[in-house]
Amino acid sequence: MDAKTFREFGKAAVDFIADYMENIRDCDILPAVQPGYLFDLLPKEIPEQPQDWKEVLHDIDRIIKPGITHWQSPNMHAYYPTASSYPSIVGDMLANGFSVIGFSWICSPACTELEVVVMDWLAKFLNLPQQFLHTTDGPGGGIIQGSASESVLVAVIAAREQTVRRMKEKHPEMTESEIRGKLVAYSSDQSNSCIEKAGVLSAVPIRLLPAGEDLIFRGEMLQQALDEDLAKGLIPIICIATLGTTGTCAYDDIESLGKICNQHDLWLHVDAAYAGAAFALEECSELRNGLEMVDSLNFNLHKFLMVNFDCSAMWLKDANKVVDSFNVDRIYLKHKYEGQTQIPDFRHWQIPLGRRFRALKVWITFRTIGAEGLRAHIRKHMALAERFENYVLSDARFELVTKRALGLVCFRPIGDNKRTTDLLHNLTERKKIYMIQAKQAGKHFLRFVVCGMDPKEQDIDFAWREIQSQMDFVVEQELLTSVKADIDSISKHITSDLHISAVMDSEKSK
Ligand SMILES: *Cc1c(COP(=O)(O)O)cnc(C)c1O
Repeated sequence: MDAKTFREFGKAAVDFIADYMENIRDCDILPAVQPGYLFDLLPKEIPEQPQDWKEVLHDIDRIIKPGITHWQSPNMHAYYPTASSYPSIVGDMLANGFSVIGFSWICSPACTELEVVVMDWLAKFLNLPQQFLHTTDGPGGGIIQGSASESVLVAVIAAREQTVRRMKEKHPEMTESEIRGKLVAYSSDQSNSCIEKAGVLSAVPIRLLPAGEDLIFRGEMLQQALDEDLAKGLIPIICIATLGTTGTCAYDDIESLGKICNQHDLWLHVDAAYAGAAFALEECSELRNGLEMVDSLNFNLHKFLMVNFDCSAMWLKDANKVVDSFNVDRIYLKHKYEGQTQIPDFRHWQIPLGRRFRALKVWITFRTIGAEGLRAHIRKHMALAERFENYVLSDARFELVTKRALGLVCFRPIGDNKRTTDLLHNLTERKKIYMIQAKQAGKHFLRFVVCGMDPKEQDIDFAWREIQSQMDFVVEQELLTSVKADIDSISKHITSDLHISAVMDSEKSK
C-alpha cells in the first residue's frame, strides 16, 4: 500500500469510527451471532492476490461489526468500563505512525521522557504521595504497564526476589531453594482473579484471606495470618490490597494493613485498577488514606480515565527494588546514558523487552481534555450511578446490596436468587442492556456499572425502563407458574376423586 492509498484508507477508517460512535445507540449491545459464525463467513487461506481496502472496510461493516459487543455503548453496564475517547484513539494512531519500541532511552528519547512527564502529571492530578514522583529526590517513579495484571505480577516477583536476597544474607545456613519453598503472600478473597494468577505465575502461594462481612480486608486479618505462618516458619513477601474490588467496589483498609506491613517489612501493593481515578477528587480524598505506606500501586487509565486500552499506570516507592530484581543486561542493550537517574530504562521495570509508545495517547488525552475535564468525567459517572440508585430505591420490588461506589450500583430483586437469575436471563436475551451478576453471602445480585464513551442521563433512564419492564415479566411469569401449579394440584385431586368413585362403582357392581 502506498502513502496515497493509506491517506484514503485512513481517512475512511476515521469516518467509519466516528459514524460508529455517533450511531452506537442503534446497535443491540450484545451481538446476535452464534459461536463459530465468523469461521463460515471467511476463506480458509490468505487471499493470494491483494484486495481493495474498500472491499475490506465494507466487510468490517458487514461481518465484523455484527460480531462486536459494543463496549463503548452507553447500554453497556457489565464488568467495569473500558475507557475510550477520540483524542486517545488518535494518540494510538500516531504512536503506530512512529512505531517505535522504547525499551531504553536511546531507542526513542521522547518515548521514555514523555512517559516520565505524564506519569508525574498523573501522580499530581491524583494527589499521590510525593514518594511516587520521578522528579523528587528519591528512588520512586511511575511507569505505564499494559494491564493491572502485569503490574501486580511485577510487584509480586520483585517482592519475592528482594525477600530471597534478604533471607540469604540473614540465614546463610539456608539454601536458596529452602527459602523459596517457604515463601507466602496475602490478599483477600474479594481481590481480582489476576492476584491469584500472579501467584500461580510467580510460584508463590497467595493466601486469599476471607474479607469481613462488609467485604473489607483489614490489618487484624493480615496479622492473624502472619502469626500463623511465621509460627510455621514460612516467609511472607507481599500483601496485595484492593481499592475498589471487582465485585462490589469495596475499599480495603490501607492504613491498618500498612501498619502491619511496615512492622513486618512486608511489601504492600495496592490494586486500584478501577477506583484509582477517584483519587483526583477532593470529595473522595479518604480513599487516599495510608497511601504513603504503600510500596507500589496500580491504576488503569483504560478503565476510568479516558485513555484506550492498554494503559495501566504503576507507581513504585523504590523503583530500584524492581530494577535490581529484573536487570539482565546484554552488550547489545547498552547505551551511553545508561543509569542516569532522570532517564529510566523502563525495560527493567516490566516483563517484556519491547514497549509501546503509550505515553503519547495519555499526553494527547490529558492536553485536549484538561484536568478539569477529566474530573468532570469521573463525576459524571458518579452522578449517573446515583441517578440509577435513586430509581432502584423508588421501586419496592428491589433492594440495594451494598453502598453505591463511584459508577457501580449493586442491587437485586427482593426474594429468592431465582428472581435475580431470571431477570438477568431475560435482559441478556433481549440484548438491549448488558449486566453481569455476582454473589455475596449466598445472595445473587446484579452489578450496574456506568460504561461507554459518552453515557447520558437518558441512557440510565432507558436501562431502568428496560429493567422494570423485564421485572414485570418475571413477576407475571411467577404468577402464571403459581396459578398453573394450583390448577395442577386441583385437577390431580379431581382426577383421584373420580378414580376413587369409579373404583367404588365397580366394587358395587360386583
Ligand atoms: C479490572 C481489574 C483488574 C484487571 O485489569 P487488567 O488491566 O485487565 O489486568 C484487576 N484488578 C481490579 C480491581 C480490576 O477492577
